[in-house]
This record gives sequence, structure tokens and C-alpha cells, in this order.
Amino acid sequence: MSNILVYALHYEGAFNKNSLGAVAEASRLAGELGGEAHAVVVGQGIADDLAATLGNYGAKKVIKAEAPEGLAGPVIDVMGNLFDGGGYGYAVFGGGLLGFEIGAGLAARVDAGVTMEVTGVNVEGGKLVAERPILGDSSISTSRYKGKGIIIARLNAFEVKETGAGAAAVEDVAVEFKPHSLKAQMVTRGEQRGADVNIEDADILVAGGRGLGKAEGFQLCEDLAGVLGGAVAATRAVVDAGWYPYAAQIGQTGKSVAPKLYLAAGISGAIQHKVGMQASENIVAINKDANAPIFEFSDLGIVGDLNKILPKLTEAVKARKG
Ligand SMILES: Cc1cc2nc3c(=O)[nH]c(=O)nc-3n(C[C@H](O)[C@H](O)[C@H](O)COP(=O)(O)OP(=O)(O)OC[C@H]3O[C@@H](n4cnc5c(N)ncnc54)[C@H](O)[C@@H]3O)c2cc1C
Repeated sequence: MSNILVYALHYEGAFNKNSLGAVAEASRLAGELGGEAHAVVVGQGIADDLAATLGNYGAKKVIKAEAPEGLAGPVIDVMGNLFDGGGYGYAVFGGGLLGFEIGAGLAARVDAGVTMEVTGVNVEGGKLVAERPILGDSSISTSRYKGKGIIIARLNAFEVKETGAGAAAVEDVAVEFKPHSLKAQMVTRGEQRGADVNIEDADILVAGGRGLGKAEGFQLCEDLAGVLGGAVAATRAVVDAGWYPYAAQIGQTGKSVAPKLYLAAGISGAIQHKVGMQASENIVAINKDANAPIFEFSDLGIVGDLNKILPKLTEAVKARKG
């Protein structure tokens, strides 16, 4: 029961960053429990060589199943069978909507406790204890499990760490899927404006708020993000106003990010926004109000009109790049 299953989401020839973080964290925890982390990969035609790379992040074994990609049902069947086979006490997911769906379904299937939005996990008395922020991130609650436990991280909660262990052994499993698991079909995977770059993976985010004045104001953020090689993010206020797509929303009811640079333009810094971006390495804020709350948690604050500052920044970066 000291082994841990960890789901690795695959898309177009790569594993997503949050999954790699989950594999690394599961490997650390399994080590402390005296067991192993086994990664589960479900998809169509995923090469063994690619699956084996999860060994670099700490997976001792990769269990691969052939099934339609991007759907929760088949993954729940695969992981449910593995739990039924015994030897696994916990499953770990790196966060994201699919992880939430699979984790919840798996918890029901194998009668396990489940904790979502987990930001830290410890080993106490030979068992995992998960930490989850509550009350707008003002407190931490801890979850202990009577039996099996399913731990679903908050996005970017687990650091991606390479162990240098090299390729893992890959084992193919054939699973008889439940009829309802194959009822849903992936019709299309589309892209929205602003969602063409995965904002959770971007090192640089230029985020815009209501201070941009109108939807067209986002052009200023896109220009700067373009020259910096970053992506554009947004507050809920502008998403609700229809200025930018939900896929770019940061905060309590959006995404959590931890880029190297988070440049917030025309954003007041409400607690519900802060919880989604406070883990950023460097926070730079541009706001015309010197008393805006965002300056309380910024590394660099610029008091001024973003309409003047953003174009100048874009020009300066362009000039620097030659
Ligand atoms: C349950 C709940 C969940 C929520 N979830 C989220 C969430 O996930 N994400 C989120 O972002 N919010 C969320 N909110 C909303 C949140 O409370 C704020 O209302 C929102 O973040 C404010 O967005 P904003 O900073 O763009 O707008 P505002 O608060 O209106 O701030 C605009 C800022 O722009 C500045 N400004 C104006 N003009 C200029 C200019 N020309 N140059 C420079 N600065 C300028 C102003 O000084 C101001 O500080 C949630 C709220 C609730 C109740």
C-alpha cells in the first residue's frame, strides 16, 4: 500500500508540466513511504520512448493503456483496475480540470478519500497528509485518509524536478472499459484567442485588468507579451465584461500560475486575483492609483498611466532585442 499511482496527461507528443510536477512529488512521497511511484499514461499510440521519459522525474514504472485521449472515463477504468489489483495506497494528480474529473470519479470507484486544490503533502506516521488552502487562502486545512487517498494538486503546486534516474520501464496494460466510459467522445480540441499559449506553462505573463478601459486595450498587453515571448492573462472583471476569454482568467475562480515574471497592468489586486498569481517569482504592477492593493505584494510598482507605459516598455524591449 506504500506505492503511489500518478496520472501523467499527454497531449501531442509531450507531458504537461503539472503532470511532471505530480510525478516528481509522488516519487518523493513514495520514497518516504518506502514504496514506488508508478505513472499512468492513457492515450492513443503514445511511444514507449516518450512514456519512459517519466522515469527522469522519478517514476519507477510507467503503466500505459491504449484508449481515447483527453477523457476521464477510460483513465478512471485504468486506475481503478490498478487499485483493485492491490499495492496502491494513493493516487496523485497535477491539477487541471481533467485531473479534478478523473480524481473525483476514481475516489468514488475505489472508495477513497479525495482532496482537491492541494498545495502541499507530508508523510506522518507512514501516511500521507494533504494541505489545502481554505477561506480565500487565509487558512490551511489538513486532510488525513482512513483508507486510500486521492490527492489532486492546485495548478503549479508541485515543482517539476528531474532526478537523473533515466528512462523507466514501460508496461502495457489492456483494460476492458465500462460501456459508459467510452460514451463521451472528443469531438474537437479548439483554441481561443489568448489561449493559444498555455498560460500555466508561460514563463512571462502580461496580465490586464479593468484599467485597460476596453476590450481593445488588450492589444497593449498582447504587444508587450509578443516581444517578451510571453502570454496574456486577465482578471475576472474583464473576463466577465467579455473583453478577454475565460481561458486567460487568473485567480480563485480561474487559473493559478507561477511564472518567472507576472506583469499586472490596470489590476487592483483583489484577494481573489492575488491567490492565483502570488506564487509568481517577480511581480511588476502598473497602476495609476498609488494606493492600489496590488502594490502591497509587488516586487516593483510603477505608478502611472498604462496607456503611456505599456507601449514604451514594448518599444524598449524591441530596441534591446535589436
Ligand atoms: C467569489 C469571487 C470570486 C472571484 N474570482 C476572481 C478571480 O478568479 N480572478 C479575479 O481576477 N477576480 C476574481 N473576483 C473579482 C475580484 O474581487 C475583483 O473584482 C477583480 O479581480 C477586479 O479586477 P480588476 O483588477 O481588473 O478591476 P478593478 O478592481 O476595477 O481595478 C482596476 C485597476 O485599474 C487601475 N487603472 C485604471 N485606469 C488605469 C490606467 N489608465 N493606468 C493604470 N491603471 C489604471 C485602477 O486604479 C484600478 O486599481 C472574484 C470575486 C468573487 C466575489
